[in-house]
Amino acid sequence: MTLRRLFASIAVFRLLSRKTISAVMVFALLKYGLKGRYRPRPDFRHAADLKPSYDVVIIGAGGHGLATAYYLSNYHGIRSVCVIDKGYLAGGNTARNTAVIRSNYITPESVRFYKESVELYRDLSDELDYNMLFTQRGQLTLAHSDATVRTFRMRAEVGKHCGTNIELVDRKQIREIVPQLHMPEEHRSPVLAGLWHPDGATGRHDAVAWGYAARAMDKGVEVHQRTEAQCIVKEGDRAVAVETNCGTVHAGNIVQAVAGYSSVLAKMAGFRLPIRSYPLQAMVTQPLKPFLDPLVSSAGLHAYVSQTSRGELVIGGGSDPYELYSTRSTLDLKESLIGHTVELFPFLARVRLLRQWAGITDMTPDYSPIMGESPVRNYWLDAGWGTWGFKATPVSGKRMAECVANEKMPAILEPFRLARFKTFDLVNEMGATAASH
Ligand SMILES: Cc1cc2nc3c(=O)[nH]c(=O)nc-3n(C[C@H](O)[C@H](O)[C@H](O)COP(=O)(O)OP(=O)(O)OC[C@H]3O[C@@H](n4cnc5c(N)ncnc54)[C@H](O)[C@@H]3O)c2cc1C
Repeated sequence: MTLRRLFASIAVFRLLSRKTISAVMVFALLKYGLKGRYRPRPDFRHAADLKPSYDVVIIGAGGHGLATAYYLSNYHGIRSVCVIDKGYLAGGNTARNTAVIRSNYITPESVRFYKESVELYRDLSDELDYNMLFTQRGQLTLAHSDATVRTFRMRAEVGKHCGTNIELVDRKQIREIVPQLHMPEEHRSPVLAGLWHPDGATGRHDAVAWGYAARAMDKGVEVHQRTEAQCIVKEGDRAVAVETNCGTVHAGNIVQAVAGYSSVLAKMAGFRLPIRSYPLQAMVTQPLKPFLDPLVSSAGLHAYVSQTSRGELVIGGGSDPYELYSTRSTLDLKESLIGHTVELFPFLARVRLLRQWAGITDMTPDYSPIMGESPVRNYWLDAGWGTWGFKATPVSGKRMAECVANEKMPAILEPFRLARFKTFDLVNEMGATAASH
């Protein structure tokens, strides 16, 4: 007898002895418990060999690629979609991020874009029937200088104008929001004010990608792991196929969604992107009793902290200061991040660190993504996601799908087109992105 059948039978007998359940329920359970075969509901179906062609080939099975596949198949009726990944499903930056979700940016273009994402996140668990552990616990960013307070005031005004929930708060209010925060007045970098964003949230990063993958596969989307794009085949100015280590696959449209490898893919397609790639590190401590509800981030100390539902503290900061394709973690980053975190919460000094890791982040000159058309026809870009792309997963997927299905840029993506670097229409988010992600 399998364990499953044994447990099911025990459950049935317990229920019978209590005599509290109806006969119908008992028989149904008994039937289930003694059944020889169970019909599992696998989330992920193993794809067969690559077909010779698809309507859309998406390079990169991270949150963005999978979300695009989901919206294409579920909202635009395009089901001949194949997502390829050189590694495994959601094993890139989707697996490495610190799950900060927020919309308190500086420019109206960004606020509107990320606000749509936060709104999509709110209903995502229901939409995908997959628990994302999405929790809106609020995000507090601390200002340690007058210049930062001025920028925060501007962000609060822009945010309110665009309908985002955001307030400039003083020291007294900060104490109420995070009573555990160490805020001496005599300090080398005293806390002067804060930017309180009640909509700030976290979610389970893996689940976001798994949920999109599962529901896309339900509609026939294929995900091919260990399938690396090695060359983009062109005919004239059009991209027509992707050469992979598993064979060549033709495509009506190709989307690149490869996070830290955007320049590498663009080079394969024959153009350059204004992107530099840097490692970004983060770390997690041993689990502690819950004490920290909101996400706390310091613009001056370049550190941010949140507590997961398991009790661990997730700690992150800015990118490493050198370009590199290496995901090794370093001692100097660990020292500086821990030092700054302990300045904010001195009682954490004896807490043990469990893990430290890194991902490769593609940074654009204005700290905003590059989305939509590329110089090659039928080849679409979802790139330049730097340190801030997890929060944008739903909106990027939705809008990239719209872009590819209609072969036209939706208005909300217009500000993020590649051409902005030629026309100097930058969407400068450096100040709102650096340490908070
Ligand atoms: C430490 C860290 C912390 C972060 N914290 C946050 C945060 O708190 N909030 C936030 O919003 N963002 C954060 N980010 C950024 C965020 O993780 C990324 O922007 C986001 O995950 C990008 O998603 P993606 O699907 O585009 O990329 P990925 O999840 O990286 O997926 C891209 C996939 O492309 C595949 N690929 C690459 N090259 C090829 C090829 N040639 N052929 C086939 N497949 C290929 C890769 O294997 C990978 O699986 C953080 C990033 C890091 C590294």
